[in-house]
Amino acid sequence: MKILISNDDGYQAPGLLALHDALADLGQVEVVAPEHNNSAKSNALTLHSPLYVHEAGNGFRYVNGTPADCVHIALTGYLGWRPDLVVSGINNGANMGDDTIYSGTVGAAMEGYLFGIPAIAFSQVEKGWGHLDAASARARELVQQVIAQGLDAQRPFLLNVNIPNRALPDLGPFEICRLGRRHAAEKVIPQSSPHGQTMYWIGGAGPAKDGAEGTDFHATTQGRVSVTPLQVDLTDHKSLRDWSARLERFQGVR
Ligand code: MN
Repeated sequence: MKILISNDDGYQAPGLLALHDALADLGQVEVVAPEHNNSAKSNALTLHSPLYVHEAGNGFRYVNGTPADCVHIALTGYLGWRPDLVVSGINNGANMGDDTIYSGTVGAAMEGYLFGIPAIAFSQVEKGWGHLDAASARARELVQQVIAQGLDAQRPFLLNVNIPNRALPDLGPFEICRLGRRHAAEKVIPQSSPHGQTMYWIGGAGPAKDGAEGTDFHATTQGRVSVTPLQVDLTDHKSLRDWSARLERFQGVR
């Protein structure tokens, strides 16, 4: 079993170290992660500046790029072997609902999935690394199940996992969920720079708008570990027919 691990919080993040240590004896495990925090970088690739790979004292590789850069470089020549599984995290904070579009944690896993490799993104619901030992134990459990059931050899998948910050005995079971939705993000925060210019800080994510039963928000509120299978196809299949009719009317006007 060959496992590639990345994250978006950077190669020194406690969540990455915990995930690595939890998976280390399950196979050949390699870490290629961003040098700095790359939260909310989604699937961004660095196209206009060079990327360097360095090795830290503990053997982790780090790159002056995004999470997707790390996985991309690893898979397209740096590793010299193809992983059976790409895992990302454990992220410092939730990646639920619309977060998945922005998330660098999901982006790293998605990069593996785009190369046809099964991939899992792990996040803790609250920031601050509380009960990280429990989160990494559950991550290990899920990866062990993937290996035991031979899922890595079947059709590639992309799983998004969110783990409540609870001690292991208080943590509920895995639950298959759909993504919820968040309200629109909070307002931008303006400040004055020392040079008298206005600077803007992106505001926080909004609260859950759709946290109904069956969503990741609902499951994690109940203390369970949400598992959402993701797809990459953004096509709004349900509206194809409507738009086809609208387009015909456009053409009628012309
Ligand atoms: Mn992050």
